[in-house]
Amino acid sequence: MKLFDVYPLFAIEPVKASGSWLWDREGKKYLDLYGGHAVISIGHNHPRFVEALKSQLDQISFYSNSVKNSLQEKLAEKLGQLSGYPGHHLFLCNSGAEANENALKLASFVTGRKKIIAFKKAFHGRTSGAVAATDNPKIVAPFNAGHEIVFLPLNDVDAFRNAINEEVAAVIIEGIQGVGGIQLPDDSFLRLLVSECKKAGALLILDEVQSGYGRTGKFFAHQHAGIEADLITIAKGMGNGFPIGGVLIHPTIKPWSGMLGTTFGGNYLACAAGLAVLEVIDGQELMANAAKLGTYWMEQLATFPAILHIRGKGLMIGFDLPDSLAGLRKDLLFKHSIFTGEAKPNTVRLLPSLALTKAEADIFLEALAAELKQTAVL
Ligand code: PLP
Repeated sequence: MKLFDVYPLFAIEPVKASGSWLWDREGKKYLDLYGGHAVISIGHNHPRFVEALKSQLDQISFYSNSVKNSLQEKLAEKLGQLSGYPGHHLFLCNSGAEANENALKLASFVTGRKKIIAFKKAFHGRTSGAVAATDNPKIVAPFNAGHEIVFLPLNDVDAFRNAINEEVAAVIIEGIQGVGGIQLPDDSFLRLLVSECKKAGALLILDEVQSGYGRTGKFFAHQHAGIEADLITIAKGMGNGFPIGGVLIHPTIKPWSGMLGTTFGGNYLACAAGLAVLEVIDGQELMANAAKLGTYWMEQLATFPAILHIRGKGLMIGFDLPDSLAGLRKDLLFKHSIFTGEAKPNTVRLLPSLALTKAEADIFLEALAAELKQTAVL
């Protein structure tokens, strides 16, 4: 059987990883400033993470959500403490898309409405239809006939004021748009969403799948604006490579048996991985590290005149390149062995491990200086 060919691939096969580094089959070493799309939060194969998974495998790896699982409770407790949302409740699932699906479902359950406001260039996942194709009276809700989604430009106050009303179930927004090219919602715009959602009786969903888990220097990107959300979705950095996702749910939303569910969500291995990640973020003060190195990178990037529109927070950084430098990301990879991310058309995205060191940050700056010098646009 062949693989279904949906991914454009680099001809590089990492076979070993540690911290911010990857090695291919030939033993060539690469600096990973992408983390497989913001997934590697505490560093590849962090010893605490490896130990947690190994020792869990020696005990129990899976049983269904029909029995007590105190690892889930421990994870929720630690997440509540570190995230600043101790009063929210946690629903565990397996991926970012699933977390968003569940958040949208909850919004429709709670409000009885099916209209959703989302923002242009947002990315919330790739699923559709599983609920709509399910004939189970227990989960029949307004969304079963499909949500109605309205897309607005990010930060457009007038468009938002015109769209929000008492038909809206939820407003969903990324803490910082990732796939859309590191676009930041204004703090004042986020505050407006909170107040207008309250007035309209709609729920505010913060998608922190990419921007959460300490990446921006605070646990969630929206916390820079001093706001709180009704529902927060998480995945990626949550498991440092082990698939796990979740929804943080406002305590006024009351659960009932069968309201949400999943086979694999909250399994023992995922919880062991998730708990190790939180302990390392806390113990190694990785949020402070992300804030410090992010500021350093942004300051240094600003010294290159060829680099345009530098933006981001902590270790979630984007910058644009003129067309003449469109090949820079490939040069960084093939000439300097540095993985970065991209967004169309010419945006470079930096999403390294939150345990990145200054020496590693400097390797990138030196490679960048060398490339820009070569093309005489330094
Ligand atoms: N939300 C955001 C902001 C994302 O960036 C992504 C994935 O890139 C998702 C949701 C979907 O997550 P997953 O691929 O784990 O389903």
